[in-house]
Amino acid sequence: MRVGMKPSDFNIKSHFYSTIWGNSEKEQIARNIVYISLTKMDDEFLPFSWEEYKKYCEHKVTEQEKWVLDDLAEGKYLFFKNNKYEVNAAFLGAILEFKINKVKESYEDGICPDCSEDILNDVVEGDECSNCGHVFTEEKSLSQN
Ligand SMILES: [Zn+2]
Repeated sequence: MRVGMKPSDFNIKSHFYSTIWGNSEKEQIARNIVYISLTKMDDEFLPFSWEEYKKYCEHKVTEQEKWVLDDLAEGKYLFFKNNKYEVNAAFLGAILEFKINKVKESYEDGICPDCSEDILNDVVEGDECSNCGHVFTEEKSLSQN
C-alpha cells in the first residue's frame, strides 16, 4: 500500500480537532473518510468517488460535503483523478496527531506499570521509562480490537 498507514491506525472515536486545516468541516469530512475506509474498504485507503462516499457514509450526506472534498483536493490533501478522491501523505500528515500509539495503548491508562509515570505519546517499542527504566513493548493485544 502506498501510504503505509491504515484507517485502523487512527482513533476515530472522537472528532478530529486542532488540525492545520483549522476548519471543523474539513476535520469532520476527514474523519468520515477514515471511517468509510475502515468499515467499507477493508481497512485500506482506497480511491473513492463522490457516489461511493455518499453510499458508504452512514449519515445523511449533503452537497456541502462534496465542496469540502473538492476543497481538500484543491489544497492537495487528497488526490483527485478519474473522478475519484484518494488519501495522500499530506492528508495523513494533517491527522497524524490522531494516530493511535499501539505501544502506549497497550498500557492501562497510558502509564508505566512500574512507577506510574505518564508514557510519552510518541513512545516506540523498546523505549525506556525516563523515570525507572522500564522497557516499553506492545505487550497485550488491544481489547477493543
Ligand atoms: Zn517507569
